[in-house]
This record gives sequence, C-alpha cells and structure tokens, in this order.
Amino acid sequence: MRPGDSSLCFGAGVAAFMLGQDAEAQTRLECALALSPGFLAAAEWLGDLHYRAGRLPEAIAVYEAARERSPKGHELQPLLDQWRKELALQSRFREVRTEHFSALYQADDDEPLARKILERLEAAYSRIGTTLGVYPSRRITAVLYTREQYGEITKLAEWSAAAYDGRIRVPLSEALAQIEEIDRVLSHEFVHALVTTVGGRTVPAWVSEGLATVLAAGSQNTEGALARADALPGLSKLHQSFADLSASEAEAAYASAARAVRRLIDQHGAALLVALLEDLGRGAPFDQAFQERLGMRYEDFAVRVARE
Ligand SMILES: [Zn+2]
Repeated sequence: MRPGDSSLCFGAGVAAFMLGQDAEAQTRLECALALSPGFLAAAEWLGDLHYRAGRLPEAIAVYEAARERSPKGHELQPLLDQWRKELALQSRFREVRTEHFSALYQADDDEPLARKILERLEAAYSRIGTTLGVYPSRRITAVLYTREQYGEITKLAEWSAAAYDGRIRVPLSEALAQIEEIDRVLSHEFVHALVTTVGGRTVPAWVSEGLATVLAAGSQNTEGALARADALPGLSKLHQSFADLSASEAEAAYASAARAVRRLIDQHGAALLVALLEDLGRGAPFDQAFQERLGMRYEDFAVRVARE
C-alpha cells in the first residue's frame, strides 16, 4: 500500500529472507536502498543475502556503496576486508560439478577428493531425499578449504567439522580419507541445506541439527554421546545456532536435539516433520505449527522428551 516507504520495503525484505524466499527478499531490500541509499541495515541484509548465495562480488559492491553513503558506513569495513580476502582466495579455486552439486577446490591434487565428495553428496541426495520425500532443485555448492582457511573464513570453533551458511564449507583433513567420515560430514551439511530450502531460516536449531544428526550416514555414533551426557539441555535452550557453544556443550546439545528428532520420527514419521518445516516456510510460528501438526503443545513435548 505504501511502495515509497523504505522501512516497509526493508521489513518485507527481512520477512522474505527469513522465509527463505531469497529472490523476493533481494527485490525488497534493493527497493529499500533505492529509496534510501544510506539505509545501513538494508545494505547489511542485502550483502548477507548475496554472500550466503556465494555471490561475493555483489555482496562486496553492496557494502562498498553503503560505506560511502551511510553515516555509519565505516562499521562495515572489517567484514568488507574479510570478504575481499575471501574473494581473492576463491578466485583461485577450480570447480567440478554433478547434477545437483558443485565443489570448489584449490590445489590440483584435491581434484580426486572433490570428485569423491560430489559423488558422496549425490548419494546423500538420493538417500535422504527418499527418506524425507524432498529433493532440492537449487544447485548446492561445497567449498573445500584447508583447516586454517576454514577457521579464518567461518570463525567457527575447533570442534566444527563443516558448516552450511548457504554453501557447504568443508575443512580438508586426514579424517576425510575415510569414506565413512566423508559421508557423515557431507550428509549432515546436506540436511541443513535441505531444511533451509523447505523451512526457511526460522527453523529452531535443534530441529535442523537433530535432523542432520539423525539422518547423517552412520548416525548411531550419536547414541554414544547420548548415553554419556548426564544432563542434556532442554529444547527451549536450543533454538539458536550451536556455533558458539564449547565442545562439551555442543556434544550435549547435538545429543538432546537428536533424541527429540528421533522421537518425533519414530512416533509420527519423517513426513510429518517435513510438513512442519513447510509450515515454517509459509511463516507459521513454530509453537503453533508444532501443536497443529503433532496434536500436542510444544512445551509438553519438551518436558516429556527431557524426562526420557
Ligand atoms: Zn549441523
């Protein structure tokens, strides 16, 4: 109703972004910036949207423009510097592709591993797609780093084995010589990509991490952690990303998330969880969608699962 109001364009852009509707979000955020070129928050969200899609030059251009036009634009400088470094690194990467995935790698020697990773991602795509009845159509990119590059770019803790932020990021390590470890790490990250595709970006962390842990190849490994953890965190504490947790907190968080998701799948089936994700992707609040799909209040489920 008020197409000339930049703050409404911005709000609509943020809403679309959270629902995983990236094209709509981009249009809205660009509209906000066209109306108010110095609108710093709009530039930050638009830059982040491009970055997550792997469009580093576009992300950098948005930030550069905002740095010039916004009174507080200098605040963007640290991230801008980091993105420029990442772009310089990425420009040296090569790419191999299969039907649903791309892999970016640096050294010629890594090409066989990059091809192996694509082969295993395609296997995860078929296996998990069959389990959930969901087959993402957008091509998913995996970027292979050295451990040092991975730490610099993602800023994630040492315990992190890989990450998904719009692209799958994998630190190369000795462990990846084992096919089981490749399968475990990649299928876990592929589930995150799938969850974001279906449910957008408001899915509670425990749902996404629980699904990724339960559906990852060789997931019986998590049952060990489950047995060792004495007091697992409640689900209400597990809605935000696990990234900032310590190694032991993270172990307990993954165990708690996996236990809750396993229970949901055992009792209601995987299709019901997919339906719940679809509700979130349409903008339903989590508590409400949970109650409607499962016929019980989310708080009651959280209490029940904690007692097991
Ligand atoms: Zn994860």
